[in-house]
Amino acid sequence: YFVSFEGGDGAGKSTHVRLLGKWLGEVTGREVVLTREPGGTELGAQLRQAVLHGEDLDPKTEALLYAADRAHHVATVVRPALARGAVVLTDRYLDSSVAYQAGGRELAEGEVEDLSLWATDGLLPDVTVLLDLDPDEAAGRLSGSPDRLERAGAEFHRRTREAFLRRAAADPARWLVVDSTASLGDVQGQIRVDVAARLGL
Ligand code: C5P
Repeated sequence: YFVSFEGGDGAGKSTHVRLLGKWLGEVTGREVVLTREPGGTELGAQLRQAVLHGEDLDPKTEALLYAADRAHHVATVVRPALARGAVVLTDRYLDSSVAYQAGGRELAEGEVEDLSLWATDGLLPDVTVLLDLDPDEAAGRLSGSPDRLERAGAEFHRRTREAFLRRAAADPARWLVVDSTASLGDVQGQIRVDVAARLGL
């Protein structure tokens, strides 16, 4: 099984990935691999540093670096894990590129999607969980020093959220949309029920 988590910053993706992973390990008895983009590999960590904390990048450069991270991540982590029967949960995947590089940075949606499909040889998650959160609310949850993109304007984050919601609405068989304003326990509970139903567990 391959499950991705998507959404804006501050929606609790990493916490929910960890909790769901632990639970899926218990109910399936399988190995669970928790990973993320950008940065799920050694090369990915360098790309993450460059794209989030390096010099300003034009949108196409940024899209290509995310795609390179994704290609390497899928080839060296995700596909090998799926091939040995592991459950793979990733904190962000190709829908983040469509939401941020197309929705946010306003590249053409079809081109960004095609780039990711090329990079991954068309590997799509069985389930994608969208932790939906109003960007204004998210801003209040974030602490510490924001990276370059977290400081982007409110319009950028609004376009990104809209892009996620549009993609989810267009492919309800793959997407689960969860309102992440509920309590952590309630959100995780809903994710478990819905993911189990989708995966036939
Ligand atoms: O979720 P995480 O903290 O790993 O995301 C890091 C940053 O990368 C976020 O600010 C997110 O907006 C940005 N990002 C992006 N395009 C992607 C993936 C992440 O702009 N494809």
